[in-house]
Amino acid sequence: MVQLENQIAIVTGASRGIGREISKKLALDGATVYLVDIQEQALLETYHQFMEENLSVKAIRADVTNEAEVEKLFAEVEGEHGKVDILINNAGIIRDNLLYKMSSTDWDDVMNVHLKGTFLCSKYAQKSMVKNQYGRIINLSSVSALGSRGQANYAAAKAGIQGFTKTLAMELGKYHITVNAIAPGFIMTDMTKAVAERLGIPFEELIEAKVKQIPVNRAGTPEDIAQAASFFASPDSSFISGQVLYVAGGPKA
Ligand code: NAD
Repeated sequence: MVQLENQIAIVTGASRGIGREISKKLALDGATVYLVDIQEQALLETYHQFMEENLSVKAIRADVTNEAEVEKLFAEVEGEHGKVDILINNAGIIRDNLLYKMSSTDWDDVMNVHLKGTFLCSKYAQKSMVKNQYGRIINLSSVSALGSRGQANYAAAKAGIQGFTKTLAMELGKYHITVNAIAPGFIMTDMTKAVAERLGIPFEELIEAKVKQIPVNRAGTPEDIAQAASFFASPDSSFISGQVLYVAGGPKA
């Protein structure tokens, strides 16, 4: 299916995990996908792997928290194609700790990547999308938005992303731009591997414990999230906006 033919997509945090898989899916759907990441080496490796698979991708290193770099990124894409159809705000970090041990730096870093990064990329993307009277913005929230022990910073940021999503949906709807959020449950990536490390348990043990709480009886994969992103990114999803889709193998609030 080439539902995204001639479309330009930007995916942040694209070098690994969920962002990597969303990029692949959008490229398979027919889009030209700009892979964006702060880690240059990992980004180039993913870019070369995708090129070998004949996927239509480009790579630009950028830090989503840095306005000058975000502005330059969008200017480059706009200069080359005159438009941005799809933005996936996926870049993310965790700095978990119980509140009494959480430093201001842990708080600021998480707020910056998730909230400021999503704000900046959306701000520059909408300029192009409003001009073209079309757009799809998809933000990565999390089930942690509903509360998650040891993640006060991350939970607050991911809940903030839901409010941001609903607000942009109201502001940008008249320009044929939809804005939605995906809230993944437990997905097996380097991010959840790092959680196991912090807890001092093998990753397999964490997976086993999590799966016991998941109705479909398995852990999530980046492909599960890519499927949801592809759905929201479709031109056919034009009457779906301001929604938060929990992709967690069972019901969430
Ligand atoms: P990951 O750590 O595997 O990948 C995140 C990517 O973002 C990395 O490649 C990293 O280099 C990049 N990144 C970090 N800071 C950046 C910055 N300032 N600028 C540009 N790129 C930056 O994480 P993941 O598990 O694939 O998660 C992807 C998204 O999904 C994140 O927003 C995360 O919070 C969210 N999420 C993940 C899970 C899960 O279980 N893995 C669950 C819910 C939500």
